[in-house]
Amino acid sequence: MTSPTTLPEPVNLPALHASHGGHWLRAGGGATTAVSKGDAIMAAADTPVLLINAPLVASRLGYPDLSGLDLLEAFAFIHPARFCVPTPRGLAEALGLLVPESDAAVPELLQRAAGALVAVCRDPEWVEREGAWSALQSLERLRWPWAQVLKPHIAKPEKAERWLFTRLPEWEEAGDRPAPRQVELAPPAVVEQLARLTGDNAEQREGQRAYAKDAARIFAPRSAPGRPHLALAQAGTGIGKTLGYLAPASLWAAQSGGTVWVSTFTKNLQRQLRAESRRAWPARRADGSPPVVVRKGRENYLCLLNLEDALQGGFAGRAAILAQLVARWGGYTRDGDMVGGDLPGWLGTLFRKRGIAALTDSRGECIYAGCPHYRKCFIERAARDSAQADLVIANHALVMVNAARARDPNQRPTRLIFDEGHHVFDAADSTFAATLSGQEAIELRRWIIGPEREARGRRRGLAARLADLASYDEAGAEAIAAACKAGQMLPSEGWLQRLTENAPSGPVEALLGAVRTATYARDESGGIEAGYAIETEAAGLPGDVIEAASAAGEALAAIRVPLIRLGGRLEAILADPPDWLDAQGRARIEGARFALIWRIDLIAAWKALLDRLGGPADPEFVDWLAVDRSDAREFDVAIHRRWLDPMKPFAQVVLEPAHGVLLTSATLTDRTTDGDAAAAQWASAIARSGAAHIDSAPLLSAATSPFDYASRAEVLIITDIKKGDLPALAGAYARLIEASGGGVLGLFTAIRRLRAVYGRVADRLARAGLPVYAQHVDPIDTGTLVDIFRDDPRASLLGTDALRDGVDVPGQSLRCVVLEQVPWPRPDILHKARRAAANKAGGGGSAYDDRIIRAKLAQAFGRLIRSKDDAGHFIVLSAAFPTRLLSAFPLGTPVLRVTLDEALQRLAAGVSSIDTVDPAAGAQGAVLT
Ligand code: SF4
Repeated sequence: MTSPTTLPEPVNLPALHASHGGHWLRAGGGATTAVSKGDAIMAAADTPVLLINAPLVASRLGYPDLSGLDLLEAFAFIHPARFCVPTPRGLAEALGLLVPESDAAVPELLQRAAGALVAVCRDPEWVEREGAWSALQSLERLRWPWAQVLKPHIAKPEKAERWLFTRLPEWEEAGDRPAPRQVELAPPAVVEQLARLTGDNAEQREGQRAYAKDAARIFAPRSAPGRPHLALAQAGTGIGKTLGYLAPASLWAAQSGGTVWVSTFTKNLQRQLRAESRRAWPARRADGSPPVVVRKGRENYLCLLNLEDALQGGFAGRAAILAQLVARWGGYTRDGDMVGGDLPGWLGTLFRKRGIAALTDSRGECIYAGCPHYRKCFIERAARDSAQADLVIANHALVMVNAARARDPNQRPTRLIFDEGHHVFDAADSTFAATLSGQEAIELRRWIIGPEREARGRRRGLAARLADLASYDEAGAEAIAAACKAGQMLPSEGWLQRLTENAPSGPVEALLGAVRTATYARDESGGIEAGYAIETEAAGLPGDVIEAASAAGEALAAIRVPLIRLGGRLEAILADPPDWLDAQGRARIEGARFALIWRIDLIAAWKALLDRLGGPADPEFVDWLAVDRSDAREFDVAIHRRWLDPMKPFAQVVLEPAHGVLLTSATLTDRTTDGDAAAAQWASAIARSGAAHIDSAPLLSAATSPFDYASRAEVLIITDIKKGDLPALAGAYARLIEASGGGVLGLFTAIRRLRAVYGRVADRLARAGLPVYAQHVDPIDTGTLVDIFRDDPRASLLGTDALRDGVDVPGQSLRCVVLEQVPWPRPDILHKARRAAANKAGGGGSAYDDRIIRAKLAQAFGRLIRSKDDAGHFIVLSAAFPTRLLSAFPLGTPVLRVTLDEALQRLAAGVSSIDTVDPAAGAQGAVLT
C-alpha cells in the first residue's frame, strides 16, 4: 500500500462504484451509501458521476448506456504514456493515495483521485503540461465531460503551444550497416560476459553458464550457404535463460558489428527483454541512436496521417475524444507502439469501438514518402532504428513475415533467437497459411477501389493513391482502370447478408454462398458447439461449389493481370525516372510497388487454392471450408489452406538464409517416458524446428530448472467432479477460490463453460471480498486483465488459451492454477490430418495427441512457480486424468488424486503439507490415491 504524502481535497462531485458485491454512491461532499442497482442507474442517468472504467461498471449494472466522468480518461489526459492498473486499487497506487480497503470506500477514493488529478493540473512542475491546454479546447468542443471540470485548473500558456506534428522529432537517414565481421566467441569470454551481465553479487549458476556457451555456438561462422547453425535449447524455468543468450548475443554484436534478433511470442516477454537488455546496452549510444529496438508489425503503431485525419473530422462523437487522448499520448510515447507499448491497454476499451485499430496502419494504405509526416513516422523510425541496432526484439509472426517479404533484403535477420520457441510451429502455421474469405476479399476490394460509400476517414483506392502516376503514364493509368473494373467482382458491403438471403452478387460472393451452403449441409456437430465455427473437408465437393470456384478463379485472374501490368509500369518508371520524380516520389513508388507485389502474391495463393478444389488433393496441404461464428452470429465464410508441415516453408524462408538460429523454451522438449527417454523427448522438438528440411543437424542443449518442485508445488487431481456437471464445476471453482483466498488462475478449454462458471460464482465471491475477472466476459483486454490480477493478491482470473502461457506472475498473486479438465486437442480437420500423418509416420495417433496435451499441461503448470520463492497448487478437475500424462509435470512434483473436500483442506493448509508425500516415490512424481 502506498501512503499519501498529502491527502488531496476531494472534488465535490457524486461518485459511483459497482462491483459484483453491490453498488455504492457518494454525494458530492456527502456520505457513502449502499444503493440498489436501479438507484445506481438513476443516479448515473441524472447527473455526471465520477466512476472508474465505465464499460466495466456498465456491465456490472447491466446498463450499457452508462456514461460519466471516468477517472481513467482523466488519467490518460493528464498522465499520457504512464502506467496505471485500471482498478480503484491501481488508480490509488498510481496517484500515491491510500488503497481502499473495501468496495464501500471506493467512491471516496474516486473523489480524492479526481482532486489529486486536478491538483496536478495546477502544479507548475506538471511534466506532461505541453499540449494540454490546446487539447482541452478541442475536447471542450467535443463535449468531453471532464473538460468543464479541468478547464478552470489548466492555465492558458503564454506562448502558443506547438501541435503534435511539429513537436515530434524527425528521424535521420543512415547509410547501410556493413556486413557483420565473422567472429568466433571463445567460451571463457562468453562466461565472463555473462558474469558482467548478472552482476558481481549474483549467484553463479552452472546451468546458466553451460546454456550461455551452447547459445554462443550459433554465432560461429557458417560453413556453407543454406546450412545455418541451428541450436535447440530446453531451458528449465529459473535457469536465467534471457541473460544466458543475451551474454553471447551482446558479445557477438560488439565484436562483429552485426544485429541479433530475439523473437518472442508474448508481449510480456518483450517487456522483460527490453528491461534485461539494459544490463548489456545503454538506452542510447553516444550518437543518440538506440542500440536496442523493439520492432513490431505496422498494425501496432500509431499512423500520424490517420491521427491527423481523425483529429480533423474523420472521427466523430466518442471516437473523436479518443483521437484527442491518443494525440496527447503521441507527444509523450517512447516509440508510438499502441498495442502492448506505453499506450494504456484499457484506453481503447473505454471507447468500445475499434478506434485504436483505425489509428494504426493496419490495412496497408501507407503512402510512404507521399505522407507529410513521413520524416516523423513512428513506423519508419522503428524500421531505420532496427537496421542500425545491436539487438532487435520482435515477435515470431513479424520475423517470419519480414523474412518472407521484407522490402529490403539487407534487413532480413541472419542471427536469430526464438525465445518461447515452442510457439514457432503455430506461428509458422499461421504465417504460411492461405485463406480466401469474405473479410479478406472485401479488404482487397477496398485496397483496389476504395470504400464504396462516403465513408469517413482517408481510405482511398489505387486510382487516388497513384493519381500523379496515372496522369504521367498512360499504360499505368489503363492498368489502374482495368484493376478497378475487375475489382468490382470482389465482395462488397452487405455480402454476408446477401449470402444468407441466397442473393450473392458477383462470382466471389457466389462461391462463398456455395461454400456456406455446403458447410452447413455437411455439419455433423449436432449443434453441440452451436455458435462456434463449423467446417468441412474440401473433398468430394458438390458440382456447384466446383463451378463457382472456377468462375471465382477466373475473376481473380482478371484482377491479377492488370495489377502485374501496373507493377511493371512502376518498375519501368523507377528504372527510367522522369525529371519530376524526386527522392520522396521515388520512395513512394517503391512503397506502392512493394504493396502491389504482396497483393499479387496473395491473389496467386487464392487462385491455387481454388484450382485445387476440383482436382486431386495435394498431400503437402490441408484444405477445408468453414463458416466462422461467434456467439451464434456468422462473421465470415472461408476456404482455408494450411501446410501439413509448416516448418517446411519456415525452413526455406527463415532458416536457410540465416547464419545462426536458436530455438529455446522451458517447454521445448516433450516429457514422455516412452522408450529411449532422451531421443523420445527431443523427437518432437526437432520435428517442430524445421531441422528436417535443412542440411544441418541441430545442436541439442538442456538445462534443468533449479526450482525445488517437490517441496514448492503439488498437483491435485480431483476425482469427484463429474464431467459435464456445470453446477458442480462452478461450485468447485468457487470453493477452491474461497479456500485459497483468491490468487487463482482458472483455465478453461471452452469459452462457453468459462462464461457459465463465471456467471455462477462472480457475485458470491465478490461479496466475500474475492474479485473474479474473466477473459471473454469483462470488457477489458487480456494484458490489462493480467495487470489487474498481478496487482491484487485477492483477485482471481479465469481465461482460455492466451493465459495458459502468457502469464508471468511471480509471488503472492498467483498461488493456484485450476484446470477445468484435461486439455484434449480439438478434433478439427487440421488436427485430424496432422494426427493421421503422425500415425502414418509410425508415431501413433494417440501418442501425437498425448504430446500435445503434455505440452499444454507443462505450459499451464509453468504459470505456478516463476521464482524460487513461489509455491502453490496445480489442480485438475478431472476424475479421468490418464496416468500416462503425469510425466508432463516436472520431475519430483508430488501428484495426488483426491476428492474436492480433501483438496480444499490441502489448499487451506498451504504447500507446507506437501512434505507428507515422498517425492522420490515416482520417476515423474509421487502418485498417491
Ligand atoms: S508514413 Fe505511412 S504509416 Fe507513417 S504516418 Fe504516414 S501514412 Fe502513416
